[in-house]
Amino acid sequence: MSQILQSVRGMNDILPDEAEFWELFEETVRSWLKSYGYRPIRMPIVEPTPLFKRAIGEVTDIVEKEMYSFEDSLNGEQLTLRPEGTAGCVRALIQHNLAARQTQRLYYIGQMFRHERPQKGRYRQFHQVGVEAFGFNGPDVDAEMILMGARLWDDLGLEGIELQINSLGQPAERAEHRKALIAYLEQHQDILDEEAKRRLYTNPLRILDTKNPDLQAMCAAAPKLIDYLGAESLAHFEGVQQVLRDAGIPFTVNPRLVRGLDYYNLTVFEWVTDKLGAQGTVCAGGRYDGLVEQLGGKPTPACGFAMGVERLVALIRESGGEPAAPAPDVYVVHQGDAASRLAFRVAEGLRDQGIAVVLHCGGGSFKSQMKKADGSGAAFAVIIGDDEASTGEVQLKALREAGGAQRKLKVDELADAIIDSMIDSDEAGE
Ligand code: ATP
Ligand code: MG
Repeated sequence: MSQILQSVRGMNDILPDEAEFWELFEETVRSWLKSYGYRPIRMPIVEPTPLFKRAIGEVTDIVEKEMYSFEDSLNGEQLTLRPEGTAGCVRALIQHNLAARQTQRLYYIGQMFRHERPQKGRYRQFHQVGVEAFGFNGPDVDAEMILMGARLWDDLGLEGIELQINSLGQPAERAEHRKALIAYLEQHQDILDEEAKRRLYTNPLRILDTKNPDLQAMCAAAPKLIDYLGAESLAHFEGVQQVLRDAGIPFTVNPRLVRGLDYYNLTVFEWVTDKLGAQGTVCAGGRYDGLVEQLGGKPTPACGFAMGVERLVALIRESGGEPAAPAPDVYVVHQGDAASRLAFRVAEGLRDQGIAVVLHCGGGSFKSQMKKADGSGAAFAVIIGDDEASTGEVQLKALREAGGAQRKLKVDELADAIIDSMIDSDEAGE
């Protein structure tokens, strides 16, 4: 017997019950984005490897160990499954000259790939909603992005997602802080773990983000970047906080919030919940003013964030948010040759009128078909036998009423009868 093939570890199928939930989530997300003037963009899932090395940074977790990279066997080009969307979005912006004459507010939803240890809330294929704004100096747009998050949690019925913000200042300020930080860390060489030692001279800021409890007290007392920020950076940070205070959005300034990607400057933020265990960050982002130029475009200020769809969907479930599974309006049951042919016509005719129809396929007795009709959640069954077919008539049965009334109707009366009953039951339900 041949071995049954499985999906790749850490890459999940999203089965219909779950996928319907995702579609509802995506509908909410798309209309939320639209209400802030964001427009969709779709980039390839595969990009040239150098794009990510240059954008994300050579000494980041993602580039050092999480990328799915491979060589195109036809032309030897180095390619990578995208681990995040910002790099590709910026590449597209530059390639198509999108920011030349106007600002851009863009979003995308899609798969990302990182070779991490799979666990709850952490997968090798996962999905992000990415939101990017180009051409705005801020701090207004930074603050608006944070307000957007607050509104989405509200739209999704989520509570207790906490906002942390920080400012990473500008590169020159970071360089000064870095010197002081390295000097401080050198004094604590003896307690640094392997990872911290490795990062001491390559990416010391990341050490402050350590998950190792033994290092946290030492990190808490380390020189703080905020103390190295100049007046302009501080004013920008204060500008963001002002909008948040005006909007009544509580936040914590977390000086250890540094983000795992190199391209950020000034504002960074994360939305964190304690309901998902260790993988509690559901949304993260910040400003990345240098990236467009760094990737070969004209200097263009930019700001963005990404949300983890798996984590948000888990959180919605955790909070008891269970959207009603969308059921068809009508399930068409039919038996006999003439009846089956009429059934196709009837189903298409109802769909023409905007009614959602499942046509029974695969035959079987009326009884077994009626069971399926019931299980589908449809409001009505349309029942067609050869007798009915010969007179151009069908039976309409209400499935969700006790003792469901059944009546005979002409085919051309059917759509109106269904629509009228749906309106009646909508009104009764209000
Ligand atoms: P973490 O610290 O959890 O690894 P990150 O800083 O690597 O997160 P980002 O690159 O900022 O994450 O991605 C934005 C969001 O995407 C995260 O806040 C999270 O919600 C989600 N995310 C990131 N990596 C994964 C993953 N492997 N599986 C599921 N969701 C993820
Ligand atoms: Mg990560």
